[in-house]
Amino acid sequence: MTQGPTINDRDSLVGVTLHSGILIESVECVDELVDVIGRPATEWTRRFGRRLQITLLSSLSDDDRSVPMYHEVIEGAMGVHFPDGVPPRLHSVNEAQIDDLARDFHQRLGSATLESLNQMLLELGF
Ligand SMILES: [Zn+2]
Repeated sequence: MTQGPTINDRDSLVGVTLHSGILIESVECVDELVDVIGRPATEWTRRFGRRLQITLLSSLSDDDRSVPMYHEVIEGAMGVHFPDGVPPRLHSVNEAQIDDLARDFHQRLGSATLESLNQMLLELGF
């Protein structure tokens, strides 16, 4: 896997604690990303306690990075707050439904920023 530049400077999300205590520790862009069974992926996240390390495909445009950010923060929040702090509406969502939610929030709130991600977390009930 080739590691590209991080988007830390452009993306003031790094090092910021979001609503409900989730910390985005890093956002890294890489040229190639595959999931655990080798399928091409656009993003993934490692979680250590409340800290999220997000990796995005570097070929995504800024706009294309926004939906994955919403997606990964939803999943990160679910992981951080599992099981008791996960809002009931999220209890049985699958990957595609998280994508739909992420797309909805992106369309409604615009690009993923500290404000829009916090708004999303509040609206989801975290
Ligand atoms: Zn996912």
